[in-house]
Amino acid sequence: MGDEGMKKEEQGTHICMVCGELRPMSAIKTLKEDVSEAHGSPPGTMYINVRYCADKKECHDAAPEVQV
Ligand SMILES: [Zn+2]
Repeated sequence: MGDEGMKKEEQGTHICMVCGELRPMSAIKTLKEDVSEAHGSPPGTMYINVRYCADKKECHDAAPEVQV
């Protein structure tokens, strides 16, 4: 019940879901991808957030194809 329980992973960082690198939040963009159809749901009901490096073209290009 101390302060230790409040600790999270490193703050201000995200892992790119394309290349797997840990990046500062400022270098990460989020793509909201509609995955409703893949799950048999009406469009617009299910989304995943794909995080990728904003400064890497290959990550940006591959982000829509990331499977979660
Ligand atoms: Zn990346």
